[in-house]
Parts: sequence; C-alpha cells; structure tokens
Amino acid sequence: MTEHRTSSLIIAIDGPAAAGKGTLARRIAQDYHFAYLDTGSLYRGVAWCLLSRGVDPENKQQAEECARNFCLDDIEGADIRTRTVGAAASIVAANDGVRAALLDFQRNFAQHPPQNASLRRASASSNMPVKGVVLDGRDIGTVVCPEAPLKLFVTASARTRAHRRWLELVSHNPSLKESDIFADIEARDARDAGRASAPLTQAEDAHLIDTTHLSIDAAFAAVQPLIDALMMR
Ligand code: C5P
Repeated sequence: MTEHRTSSLIIAIDGPAAAGKGTLARRIAQDYHFAYLDTGSLYRGVAWCLLSRGVDPENKQQAEECARNFCLDDIEGADIRTRTVGAAASIVAANDGVRAALLDFQRNFAQHPPQNASLRRASASSNMPVKGVVLDGRDIGTVVCPEAPLKLFVTASARTRAHRRWLELVSHNPSLKESDIFADIEARDARDAGRASAPLTQAEDAHLIDTTHLSIDAAFAAVQPLIDALMMR
C-alpha cells in the first residue's frame, strides 16, 4: 500500500453492533473520497484466525500473539461476518494484549491513510493525498483517535438492531430466529460496554445519531453539514 504522510481529517464513529455505523462510515468515505477502516474487522480477523486453528478465543496468550502478527491479507476472502466470529470477536476484544497490539495499526492508519483505502480510488489521482479518513468501531473517539475533530456516536434500539442483523444473516441461514439474534446483540452489548479496557461509551464531544427511525440518507444528511464545515477550515 502506498502511504502518504498527510494530516487528514479524521472522523471517528462509534456505536453498538448493527446500529448502522458501518453503512454511514462507508457512505461518508464514498461521497468525500476518504479512506475507511472498519476496526471491527480487525477483532473479527483475530477471532477468525483463532477459530480456524481450533484455538479457544478465551486463550489470552494465543489471542495476543495472533493480534501481534495480524495482517489484513490473512483474512482476505474469509467469512468473518458470521454469528460465531462476532461473538468470538467480542471475547478477544476484552483482552488488553489484543487491544494494545491492534491500537498501533489503527492509529497509523488514521495518521497515514493508505491511498488505496479510498473507496473511490478510480476518481482520485494517485498522487493526491487522501483528504480524510473514517474509522468505525467501539473506542475510536475515546481511545484510538481522541483528537478527532468529528466524532459520531451511532446507536439504535436493541430490537431495531437485532432485526437489521437478522435480515442480513437470514438469507444464508433460513432457520435463524430473530429472537436468537436479539439475545446475541444483548450479550455483545453487555460485553462491549462492561469490559474494563476501552469499553463502548459515547465520547463527551461526540454527536449522537439515533438511527432507530432514520434511513441511511437521513443519517448522512444530518452529518454532511458537520463534515462540510470542517472541510472549509
Ligand atoms: O463492529 P463489529 O460488530 O464488526 O465488531 C466486532 C467486535 O469487535 C465488537 O463486538 C467489539 O467487541 C469489538 N470491537 C472493539 N473495538 C472496536 C471495534 C470492534 O472492541 N474499535
């Protein structure tokens, strides 16, 4: 990946599972030609690596070692979006050693976004530095990039989030029950918000976006003026 040393506008997006933060982050990255990092995929990637080797995600030492050696290419083509990987990701995410190992990767990405991480590469000249970067996760505004000039906390009711996640997964697994997904979401929320290290919490200076009754277009329209104001500076 070609790296460009530049101080890009950092947009930090946090929120619970299936709140729509990834969809909003991708929409912002696409419209503004910003680089994008889905930080959940790093925790999912570590979890997937462990599960594929038959290692228990609760095994702290192995999980930490896996995170230290982790590279995005390792999970190219891997199915990291399953329920099992999601549950294991929130277990490895409570491991301090794993978090520390992934922190540098995330900060480096935010400070020096790779040119080819821009979602609309084709329209950007290869020499043009990426003007902004969007990271989404659970602790971006609080721990990874507390200096980000724009922080969003995207949430929705647990019922709405469970319904969305169920719609995503049911086509691959028609016997999946929405009530099971609701239970998964509640367990994951409790683990993500209750852990000692970098728990899911809204940064004091984050704008709250509740997507329970908002379409993606409406959520994007709400944040556009905030981004435009920063781009004019
Ligand atoms: O966002 P996603 O559901 O893919 O994240 C999977 C898991 O990774 C989350 O449940 C959370 O435990 C963990 N995670 C985290 N910090 C982040 C991103 C994800 O702890 N910045």
